[in-house]
Amino acid sequence: MTCKGICIRHKAQKPVGSGRFASGQKRCQICEIFIKWDGLWCPCCGYRLRTKPRNLKYKAKLRARSNTTRFKEAPVLTVRLK
Ligand SMILES: [Zn+2]
Ligand SMILES: [Zn+2]
Repeated sequence: MTCKGICIRHKAQKPVGSGRFASGQKRCQICEIFIKWDGLWCPCCGYRLRTKPRNLKYKAKLRARSNTTRFKEAPVLTVRLK
């Protein structure tokens, strides 16, 4: 999946007074661009578009789907505060 340059045609302008996701724009992680697009998938690279801002719930979902984030799941270090 690579950027073919099609997304540029759907490039979204930065909204004034509201967030990008709030105004219906979607983010493609592959093309690294915000686009105005009705579908769930990028018309350019075919990758799933992000429709919500980052939050913990979404991150957890992403982690379950992708194994590229596996390195982030390092064992939690126990810090003694006493
Ligand atoms: Zn693209
Ligand atoms: Zn894309």
